[in-house]
Amino acid sequence: MERQRILKLYEWTTGICFRHPGKGAVPTALVAVLILPDDGDHEVRACTNCVITLEDMKREMGSRSAGNCQPAE
Ligand SMILES: [Zn+2]
Repeated sequence: MERQRILKLYEWTTGICFRHPGKGAVPTALVAVLILPDDGDHEVRACTNCVITLEDMKREMGSRSAGNCQPAE
């Protein structure tokens, strides 16, 4: 339902999803940057489905720990 709204918050570029490398190049958003001591920065990119999954997880964790019912924006 909020999928489109969530997806608009990210910038999308073609890349490889960290959970679905087998899909090849798909629209992806930057979700994290890993800094490896030997290897420098690594961008972690996620496809639309994974971004939605991550956002759902974030919201669930937030509502569990914060315990308030403020609507997001
Ligand atoms: Zn994915």
